[in-house]
Amino acid sequence: MLVDRFGREHRDLRISLTDRCSLRCTYCMPAEGVPWLRGPDLMTTAELVRIATVAVAEGITEVRLTGGEPLLRPDVVEIVAALTALSGPSGPPEVSLTTNALRLPALATPLADAGLSRVNVSLDTLRRDRFKELTRRDRLTDTLAGIAAADVAGLHPIKLNAVVMRGVNDDEVVDLVRYAVDHGYEMRFIEQMPLDPGHTWLREAMVTGTEILERLAAAFTLTEVTGRGSAPAERWAIDGGPSTVGVIASVSAPFCGACDRVRLTADGQLRSCLFARTESNLLGLLRDGADDAALAAALHTCLAGKLPGHGIDDPTFLQPDRPMSAIGG
Ligand code: SAM
Ligand code: SF4
Repeated sequence: MLVDRFGREHRDLRISLTDRCSLRCTYCMPAEGVPWLRGPDLMTTAELVRIATVAVAEGITEVRLTGGEPLLRPDVVEIVAALTALSGPSGPPEVSLTTNALRLPALATPLADAGLSRVNVSLDTLRRDRFKELTRRDRLTDTLAGIAAADVAGLHPIKLNAVVMRGVNDDEVVDLVRYAVDHGYEMRFIEQMPLDPGHTWLREAMVTGTEILERLAAAFTLTEVTGRGSAPAERWAIDGGPSTVGVIASVSAPFCGACDRVRLTADGQLRSCLFARTESNLLGLLRDGADDAALAAALHTCLAGKLPGHGIDDPTFLQPDRPMSAIGG
């Protein structure tokens, strides 16, 4: 079991498959992209699966593939098949994916056949002009087609994630919820975090979870869903249910005390937190010939250094060097 010094049991491993992306969401990447990782520095599929095998043996029960855009990885279906074939003390891990959905029309069914359980899709707006401005690509229709393909392929529950930004899409939260409810998806709103490569985030400008709830409460009757566990989203039943909406208030109401997540970047660096200032070079160890016991020991050492919280409110807080797209959101 991967337990840190605060007693938090870690069961959720987020693996970034690539730092590259087909969109350029303004809060995540500049128009020209970021300096990409070099091909030889990325984990091969065999290396990724080997690290995941050790992590699952140590108690990881949930693997989430992310990026960058994970569906840009040409062998994503093989990776899913290999990960769902693993087995740990609690059986095979649940494997899910966070994606911008652009490649889901082609990949949803092969991914479901390979054992993928469900998808989270980024959808910040339903307006074509706004989508184009926000992602710097005119691809709203493709994103919506990708979500529909995931639905047909049975990748349920489908969760839609929107980062809420003042003066950009904060007037759309009710429309997004209506769209999700009409289609049987779960809408989740995320507070913007200081992870942009331009370091432009300002706490005062952030739309807080409380503000989001106020906007929603003006349109719907919200009833808090209890039993959140380690989930980042606080959930609310809409108009008596069964549809729900989630609010991920990572900044204004941190849930670090219940965190069970650990992250592996596409170049094989283990991070105990999105906001960690240090990484453990698991890929380097593996390429130097480390055996499974040494890799497991490195996992435990990394978690032993995990801080109690992200510290965004601390005056000494420093944004991590890697942007979100290179860590794996
Ligand atoms: N490309 C995929 C996608 O967009 O879903 C996966 C990677 S993306 C980095 C994962 C999630 O991080 C998305 O839901 C995105 O909206 C969110 N994200 C990116 N930058 C963020 C930021 N600065 N604050 C909060 N969420 C952010
Ligand atoms: Fe790409 Fe996801 Fe970042 Fe948007 S949020 S630029 S889709 S990695």
